[in-house]
Amino acid sequence: MSTLSSSPKPLCSSVYGPVTSWRFGRSLGIDPIGLISSCSFNCIYCQLGKIQQQTTKRQVFVPTSQVISDLQAIAQKEVHIDIVTVSGSGEPTLALNLEEVLVATTEIFKQPKAVLTNSTLLGDKSVRNALKLADIVAVKLDCVSLNQLRQINHPLETIDLPDIIQGIKLFRYEYPGRMAIQTMILSAWTAETQAHYIHLVKNLQPDEIQLNIPSRPRVLVSQLESRGNEIVASRSYACENFQCIQPEELKMIAKTIHNVTKIPVRYATKL
Ligand code: SF4
Repeated sequence: MSTLSSSPKPLCSSVYGPVTSWRFGRSLGIDPIGLISSCSFNCIYCQLGKIQQQTTKRQVFVPTSQVISDLQAIAQKEVHIDIVTVSGSGEPTLALNLEEVLVATTEIFKQPKAVLTNSTLLGDKSVRNALKLADIVAVKLDCVSLNQLRQINHPLETIDLPDIIQGIKLFRYEYPGRMAIQTMILSAWTAETQAHYIHLVKNLQPDEIQLNIPSRPRVLVSQLESRGNEIVASRSYACENFQCIQPEELKMIAKTIHNVTKIPVRYATKL
């Protein structure tokens, strides 16, 4: 009697959603990181919960072949998608195959592609080159000082704010696509913080600024499900909610930044 062997089943899909994004509409998510959340930050508001593997080492987490077959499976369904966003269980630029993933996505979907990055690897030319394949890149900048960076983003010790800013500058200089600066605001800014932020963004010249507040609960123990941005009502795992500024305050900050810089500013309109 012979037994047919089958290839091992992937433990999870590298594609999720589409989910509704206030910034991008119906967004199909690609997760090149996979089961173990991996990032160079460990932000206090991260919807993934405590990052399981904090690293700056680029590697292949999910083989490109798996991403391609997961994308092809979704492409066969009639699903409304406005954009394909590479994000997922951590920092997508850690994925050494990011460029391959973006090439494959272009071949399968005609919709624009976005990448959300925490900006820490933008000093690496190969990362910047890979990101050039995206139509929109949202680069994170939550802080104006090293102290704030440590308090909000809990970076690895080797990460410094001037390097992040220099990486964003280099990327802006080379990138022909739409670069957004994404900033999470947790508490009211002082006038000094606001002035410093305005000075920074004027120098960085993004096409737009996206101001956000933590609107999703933070899981206490890592859950793959939390990589999407839709709150699952039936969830059975523990979460914590954030106290943060109200949408009205966010609107005021957005108005001031826009009035001074003339850069388009979008902001989350509800908690
Ligand atoms: S950068 Fe993003 S994935 Fe990384 S810890 Fe912060 S919120 Fe989470």
